[in-house]
Amino acid sequence: MTAERKYLYGPVPSRRLGLSYGVDIVPLKICTLDCVYCQLGRSIRKTVERKEYVPVEPVLAELSEALTDGSEADFITIAGSGEPTLNSRLGELIDGIKHLTDIPVAILTNGTLLYRQDVRADCAKVDVALPSLDAGDEQTFKKIDRPHPTISIETVISGLCSFRQEFAGQIWLEVFFVDSINTGPEQIAKIKDAIRRIRPDKVQLNTAIRPTAESNVVKLDAGKLHDIAKQLGPECEVVADFSTEPSDEDALGLNCATRSKTQTLLSMLKRRPCSLCDLCTGLAISETEVLRHISELEQGGLISSERKGGKVFFKALS
Ligand code: SF4
Repeated sequence: MTAERKYLYGPVPSRRLGLSYGVDIVPLKICTLDCVYCQLGRSIRKTVERKEYVPVEPVLAELSEALTDGSEADFITIAGSGEPTLNSRLGELIDGIKHLTDIPVAILTNGTLLYRQDVRADCAKVDVALPSLDAGDEQTFKKIDRPHPTISIETVISGLCSFRQEFAGQIWLEVFFVDSINTGPEQIAKIKDAIRRIRPDKVQLNTAIRPTAESNVVKLDAGKLHDIAKQLGPECEVVADFSTEPSDEDALGLNCATRSKTQTLLSMLKRRPCSLCDLCTGLAISETEVLRHISELEQGGLISSERKGGKVFFKALS
């Protein structure tokens, strides 16, 4: 019987990366930021300390076992419940993954530690880096991302610029927009200037579709986000999940092969609030079956629901 996986999820469909395995190498909400829009709640520990939060060996053992069952994937994505570059053995992990498979490796990071040469060297081992940048000035950065006190917006932008110079792979920069925080003409102009300096291969725009750390966070509507995409330039695309498809991060919370559907569903909700439709698509099961699992988890006091933008989202209770 396959052992329950602790660090590896998937492979599951993902909006930005196709079919992807997710690798989780930092515990829940240990992060350099405490973004107001974070879908995992407030940061439990805001830190810039790099250390071995999760050992590399069991992660690679899980991946090795998963790959032997013949599952295919477009990417192995280093992501998870906290900021993955905080794991000091990130480079060893990527080397280990590359030793096991030819599947391209991606990393989802907030990019705040790329000012460090060791972090840039680790991240440069992946094929696609997906950092984020939500502001072009200090005031907006503090308001939307609530960084660790040692991190300034210039540290982040300069780190991304240095990484661009050293990294031959693809950089897909995500910008997350929250209405009335980083959506004014002045803020957009400063973000545009930062993008010009960073020179990413793609710019992907997102907004708060799902429940967020702070309840007063307001999402942009699709029209406004597309309008901002036009202002920011031709390399910009909207990746916000205005449809009913699951996003990357929702998808990476799945592990259908090894857990019971109820546990898989709970695992998915621990990573991200999801709609009924997300759960049906992600788990590839009917609404009736999803509702049966939801009812079981609700009765056990493990999940709750919340309405946002006319849609009901389910989330795990901590
Ligand atoms: S959104 Fe990402 S970077 Fe921001 S607090 Fe959450 S985990 Fe950290």
